[in-house]
Amino acid sequence: MKPIMFVRPADTRAAIAAATTCGACFHGGGTTLVDLMRLEVMTPSTLVDLGRLPLTEIERHGNGLRIGAMARNADVASHALVVERYPLLAEAIAAGASQQIRNMATVGGNLLQRTRCPYFRDPGVACNKRAPGAGCSALDGFTRSHAILGTSASCIATHPSDMCVALVALDAIVHTRNADRARAIPIGELHTLPGDHPEVENVLEPGELITHVELPAAKFGRQVSYVKVRDRAAFAFALASAAVGLDVADGRIRGARIALGGVATKPWRAVEAEQVLVGQPPDRPAFERAAAAALVDPRPRRDNAFKVGLAQRTIVRALELASGVS
Ligand SMILES: Cc1cc2nc3c(=O)[nH]c(=O)nc-3n(C[C@H](O)[C@H](O)[C@H](O)COP(=O)(O)OP(=O)(O)OC[C@H]3O[C@@H](n4cnc5c(N)ncnc54)[C@H](O)[C@@H]3O)c2cc1C
Repeated sequence: MKPIMFVRPADTRAAIAAATTCGACFHGGGTTLVDLMRLEVMTPSTLVDLGRLPLTEIERHGNGLRIGAMARNADVASHALVVERYPLLAEAIAAGASQQIRNMATVGGNLLQRTRCPYFRDPGVACNKRAPGAGCSALDGFTRSHAILGTSASCIATHPSDMCVALVALDAIVHTRNADRARAIPIGELHTLPGDHPEVENVLEPGELITHVELPAAKFGRQVSYVKVRDRAAFAFALASAAVGLDVADGRIRGARIALGGVATKPWRAVEAEQVLVGQPPDRPAFERAAAAALVDPRPRRDNAFKVGLAQRTIVRALELASGVS
């Protein structure tokens, strides 16, 4: 292994400047990054540790909330404002990883965590995401955990985050900064589809720092739910997950949000399913019709065809829990 430079800047400007060095990489909690460095999947020349930056706030912002990029996942999930006003986010974060990892993991790092595709994590096999143009071993491999939505002929790796699924349902805005400008990126536009370039996973430029996440005013009160289906209760990524929110008045659904995890190459918003729900009573038949509409043009492979039905049942269950119908 080559020697790695480690820097610990005291302010955002210095962190951004340090990250412009070729091969530099931000270090949040390190729970994805250090794993991948050990596997020699990521080989940064410089680690820019963000641990001294004043980016840990979790505070009111107008009618919404502002969460610093260095806020730890555990602190976000247990914060009174999050539990009270954004229980969907608290539920989704708590469904991920383990308490120990959530104590280390940061919001910025969770947003940019890399896929758990075993072919990506194994430098001994071909992977277009790790080595562009090398080919994709997953396509003819064991595909049980892989994506059925948003895939391409170059990549079928699933996006692994639970937190991001809730952030999609909550219309979060991701704020970033580089040397020249600050940007506000709607969460739905942060992650990119693999297409012919699976090595590109998001719209950030090299050295662009996530500074904080903004949540608009909470729309759904407590009529929300995050359901995650996985092989075991901890240390397991979603086979399918659904984050839903319902706005119900006078026995009819006025608005809905449905986002999916575990089934797509990026955190996935099921707009068609949301539209099916509007104007309907919040009951099981309506939830089943919405679930049937949720997966547009799925592309299952040999081992993951079960995810189509699993995702639909996960959506129905999440809608039942959110609405109190069961
Ligand atoms: C055993 C295990 C089980 C897990 N299970 C789950 C699970 O069930 N659900 C789930 O959602 N996650 C799970 N995770 C993943 C975990 O949530 C992520 O590893 C964690 O959120 C990453 O955060 P971090 O701060 O440690 O990121 P890091 O490892 O520090 O960084 C990850 C990436 O983000 C970049 N980055 C970090 N901060 C910033 C920033 N502010 N601006 C720009 N770029 C930045 C880094 O350069 C790096 O590329 C699991 C992890 C492990 C090890």
